[in-house]
Amino acid sequence: MYNEKEAIEAGVPILPAYEDKNGEYVVFCTFCGQWHHHSRGDGTRVPHCESKRKLHYPQGQYYLKSTGQSVTEDMLNVKKYRKMLKEANETQIEEPKL
Ligand SMILES: [Zn+2]
Repeated sequence: MYNEKEAIEAGVPILPAYEDKNGEYVVFCTFCGQWHHHSRGDGTRVPHCESKRKLHYPQGQYYLKSTGQSVTEDMLNVKKYRKMLKEANETQIEEPKL
């Protein structure tokens, strides 16, 4: 178990956690590209796509950090969510306006 600072130092990825309708966390796993459900509360978790996790996550874990936002039906649709991520990335790399 790490706190956020230790997780960063250990190279454990910090992933944004959203809340489902029960207030539990949902996280979009950057390894397997699927949503995983976890109990609520910021901290380290072991991804549910366990068989290959050790190859991809340092210490076999990721760190969930609450966004305070609820997940939407659109986001849970993996195909739509990937498109949203792609569009968000394109926005971020836009040239700064002078
Ligand atoms: Zn996964």
